[in-house]
Amino acid sequence: MTLSIKPDEDPTFTLTTGPVDAYPQVLRGLGKPVMYDYDPAFQGFYERVTQKLRSALRTPHMPVILQGEPVLALEAGAASLIAADDVVLNLVSGVYGAGFGFWAKRYCRELLEIRVPYNEVIDPASVAAMLKSRPDIRIIAVCHHDTPSGTINPVAEIGRMAAAHGACLLVDAVSSWAGMDIGPENCHADLFVTGPNKCLGCPPALSLVGVSPRAWQKMKANPAAPRDSILSILDWEEAWRRDRPFPFTPSVAEINGLDAALDLYLGEGPEKVWERHALTAAACRAGVQAMGLALWPVSERFASPTTTAVRIPAGLDDAAIRATVRARYGVMFSSGRGETQGKLLRIGHMGPTARPLYAVVAISALGGAIRSLGAVVDVAAGMAAALATIDAGTAGPSGVTGASA
Ligand SMILES: *Cc1c(COP(=O)(O)O)cnc(C)c1O
Repeated sequence: MTLSIKPDEDPTFTLTTGPVDAYPQVLRGLGKPVMYDYDPAFQGFYERVTQKLRSALRTPHMPVILQGEPVLALEAGAASLIAADDVVLNLVSGVYGAGFGFWAKRYCRELLEIRVPYNEVIDPASVAAMLKSRPDIRIIAVCHHDTPSGTINPVAEIGRMAAAHGACLLVDAVSSWAGMDIGPENCHADLFVTGPNKCLGCPPALSLVGVSPRAWQKMKANPAAPRDSILSILDWEEAWRRDRPFPFTPSVAEINGLDAALDLYLGEGPEKVWERHALTAAACRAGVQAMGLALWPVSERFASPTTTAVRIPAGLDDAAIRATVRARYGVMFSSGRGETQGKLLRIGHMGPTARPLYAVVAISALGGAIRSLGAVVDVAAGMAAALATIDAGTAGPSGVTGASA
């Protein structure tokens, strides 16, 4: 008899790229009593949570919390930062990068794009060449970790170029922040969009936005920037102060959850958290390759420490693999999205699942499922390689880091 997890039964392991399995402490935080938002205790608490977030982002500037999952902040960022006469350079190495172009196009005078295949990353030299030929570029947008590809763009280098050019930089770091060394300051981001629902281990509901003084200036000077609107960033500039009103009711329970997650992150120590993300991903990559499967990124150097994207072997169907993994072993993986749908599957290493032994769980479930579908994979070799990486305790030279990449 084989045990089988039915589609309407909960999986045993959620090893996805978001939403992720939230930390138990976060779930307890979400269950706290819901205070009135103008209770002085809540206003003081909101100010302290925003200060904690500022520390976690490693920036001297007060960040903004928007009350909706991070797609809200990406659209709000486009609407607020891009003025009608701006030329925008959008860097596209994946589904999210391409998606930002749809919003940017709505607000700008001209949209320029650099596009690379979705298993590669942006070459800084191409950005330098574009900036040289188009001195009128005012805004650059880039997705740091394009999650549906599991690849990391060299944002630190791109940020240095943007700063030298005098352009504002918008970075989507939703699925990399808190899983590796990336923050608004080390990539010169003017709008640094992230969320608590990936590597911080919260449910999806909030946007976290690092805002530079230059971005405030640019948004305030933009007559079309949303005000008195759900898309407004400007409305929230002072909302963190205990003596200032909220533009509308904040998501009280989610702020409680965020507070618990920030305590965990800062308490464990960001460097330690990044290390376990890097090691889990390295073990997973070693296992995938030792088993005889291929990584999606053309070079392991581009592979994310928070997601392992595995190319679907020829002749196999990705939906069948994921369904078998789930039914046989109770493990849930993520599929591709848009252009990467059907070509890869993704194993998430985010927050609570960035624990090295989960790499062995993932490799055994993936290998077992593929073997049962009739393909040849060396499951034992994959598990041994994952374990060897864990035992060596080092993510090795292939682990991408944000600032130094
Ligand atoms: C998860 C994610 C977002 C948020 O959008 P979803 O609605 O959760 O898809 C934005 N950008 C990136 C790169 C993400 O991984």
